[in-house]
This record gives sequence, structure tokens and C-alpha cells, in this order.
Amino acid sequence: MSKRLVLASNNVKKAAEMQALLAPLGIEVIPQSALGVSEAEEPHPTFVENALAKARHAAAATGLPAVADDSGLCVEALGGAPGVQSARFAGEPKSDARNNALLLEELAAFPEPEQRRAYFCSVVVLVRHADDPRPLIADGEWHGQILPAARGEGGFGYDPLFWLPELGQTAAELDAALKNTLSHRGAAMRHLLTRLESHPL
Ligand code: IMP
Repeated sequence: MSKRLVLASNNVKKAAEMQALLAPLGIEVIPQSALGVSEAEEPHPTFVENALAKARHAAAATGLPAVADDSGLCVEALGGAPGVQSARFAGEPKSDARNNALLLEELAAFPEPEQRRAYFCSVVVLVRHADDPRPLIADGEWHGQILPAARGEGGFGYDPLFWLPELGQTAAELDAALKNTLSHRGAAMRHLLTRLESHPL
């Protein structure tokens, strides 16, 4: 039987990015939603703890190896917020539109581009089983600035506000393959795949 890996995210757009990034593994990658796995709790103050919690939750529910990403946007002028709270910055229920509106509001007092520096970070964790004592862990960052108004229709989350000065585009204006080449998640997943070469599933 071929190897299988559960993708521990119910965020459809994030899962699609991760699925593409895992393609080089050449194994069957199954979104947890297809196996009826509920969303894990993410109560922790660090990305790595939340990613581990999500991967463990999916592995425990399915009996399969699992990979999870925990990620967020860190804005310098806001002391690193929204950070681990990125998905729920504007509260429950999760809403990209409300999160983006709140971010613009909080940055209104910081009009200059250099005051609006921010970076995305992603921590990815792979566990071979729920009690794996040695999870594989990798991370990545992506630096840019927060625009005063949204641009572009692609991506998800804060992408329409995330300006890449060297490209003259927001993350939401990039095609999916280019976003994966440049992004925090792309960098983290490529590191993870390298680690998997010496620590196979
Ligand atoms: P998580 O699913 O709990 O890790 O939440 C990640 C949150 O961070 C998302 O809901 C977005 O708000 C934000 N985020 C993470 N990665 C990205 C990205 O690639 N583009 C835009 N927003 C992102």
C-alpha cells in the first residue's frame, strides 16, 4: 500500500498551497476534512506549539502521519501582532475581511511605508504518529509592508494588504505557484522536505 500523509488544516486555501508544496514527496496527501477530522484547538502562545497540536490531533484521529502549518502575520509597529492570533485578530467567527479592516485601523497612525513593515511566518510540523517523540519541524518568513488599501483577488487572509516592494505587487496579485516559491509557507515546506530526505516517513 502506498504511503499516506494527512494534511492537518481545514483552511481550504492554505491546504491547497500545502498540497502543491508536498507534491515532490510523491505520496498520497489527504486533507483532514476528507477523513472527517475536526479543527484542533490552538490555545498556545507560540506557532510551534500550535502546529504540533494540530499535527498530533490529526494523527491521533486518523492513525496516519500528519503535517500541520501554524502561521501568521507579525507587524513591527504593532509589536508583532496579530502574530499567533492572526486568524482570529478581529474575534470569532474567523473573518479575513474583518481582520484586514482591523489591521488597517490599527495602522492608521503609521502612514509611512517603513512604519508598516511586516512579515509572515510559518512553522510546519510533521509527526509520524500522535506520540512521535521527534517531530520534524521547519520554519520560514516572508517580509513585506502593509498597504493602506487592499489589492488583488488571489491568496487568502492578509494577502491583499501584503505589499512586496521589489515586485510592485501584493501577495494576492501573485499566481499561486509564484506565491509558493516566495512565501513563508513555501520556505518552511521546502526545509521540511529536505529534513524528510534524511528522516523518511
Ligand atoms: P492558522 O490557520 O491558525 O495557522 O492561521 C493562520 C492565519 O494567518 C490565517 O488565517 C491568515 O490570517 C494568516 N496567514 C497565514 N499565512 C498567510 C498567507 O499566506 N497569506 C495571508 N494570510 C496568512
